[in-house]
Amino acid sequence: MYRAQEDHRSASFPALTRSVLDRLPAIVGSTTATPFVFASSGSAMWETALINSVQPGGLLLAPRYGQFSHLFITTAEKLGYRVQVLDVPWGEGAPADAIEAALRGDHAHEIQGVLLVHNETATGVTTDVGAVRAAIDRASHPALLFVDGVSSIASLDFQMDAWGVDCAITGSQKGFMMPAGLGILYCSGRVMAGLDGITMPRAYFDLRPMRDTNAQGYYPATPPTTLLWALDEALTMLHEEGMSRVVARHHRLAEGVRRAVHAWGLRLCAAHPSLYSDTVSAVLVPDGADARTVIDIAARQWNLALGSGLAQLAGKVFRIGHMGDVNELMLAGALSGVELSLLDAGIDVPVGAGVAAATTYWRETAVRT
Ligand SMILES: *Cc1c(COP(=O)(O)O)cnc(C)c1O
Repeated sequence: MYRAQEDHRSASFPALTRSVLDRLPAIVGSTTATPFVFASSGSAMWETALINSVQPGGLLLAPRYGQFSHLFITTAEKLGYRVQVLDVPWGEGAPADAIEAALRGDHAHEIQGVLLVHNETATGVTTDVGAVRAAIDRASHPALLFVDGVSSIASLDFQMDAWGVDCAITGSQKGFMMPAGLGILYCSGRVMAGLDGITMPRAYFDLRPMRDTNAQGYYPATPPTTLLWALDEALTMLHEEGMSRVVARHHRLAEGVRRAVHAWGLRLCAAHPSLYSDTVSAVLVPDGADARTVIDIAARQWNLALGSGLAQLAGKVFRIGHMGDVNELMLAGALSGVELSLLDAGIDVPVGAGVAAATTYWRETAVRT
């Protein structure tokens, strides 16, 4: 990113545009998706996906199992869409059976899209998107499939083509290891084919001028060029490591963190091991303790940033991020900081037990060079 701002209308600029756009689809396991990059945060891509593919007032189906699925739903509602919400206890994933039943009950095919959050960052739960796709197929329903992959894409296995995802949504500051500032959206051929027929009012987030100028290697408005250079480098790093190794690294690091949590005698918010997220762990504090105290001590005393409990989880969980450019030593430091903060908060964990459990696991599973 440390380079002079350049003229984004210059003859040399399309090389950067193409390098980024050509290499984005492989990150989500796609050879057919059309990627878009906006100056925005990830949330703006919820809106962009919907207004470019769903007609005004359309009906959507959405399970709600954490703060991010809640915000995706409220975004749709604010845009005038109707949302049939399937409420699920926080800590669970998307209920494929209930989605299938709702779609089977929709004989008129009124439901235009299903909204999912692949990795619920609030609860540390990864949903099985393939299982939801299979449920949609069993119901023989034509609804589009929208997947928020903000805390999964570029870290967890994501198979846009195999899962039949129509819109995949992310931002720059999570798996892409960058500062915040880019919204990234991938659209299926079906969404691209329907783009011109959608009558929703659209302006900055209209994909049509983006599609047309991107085809020439340019953007309709001034793109954040330094962030595009950062994304280009992030793509080089991801392709050098290889997505399967990126996914394996996240799993191995996350499993070390989970061993630490169990060694402390604490539990994760995720209701079942099959739901454990490899990018973030939401850790429940014991009854009577307040997670906000732990987070506050971690920040002020140990200069460690833990994620807070969002909405109904406030005070109940703290979150350890293990996403993007992380390795064993960074996480060993984080786990040590969590132990110090728990002890300072009066939560009695065996000193060093978490770090020891993680270290033991990482030693056992290390790829020796
Ligand atoms: C972080 C996050 C968002 C919001 O992204 P912003 O870039 O903050 O707008 C949306 N969904 C999920 C799952 C997230 O983790």
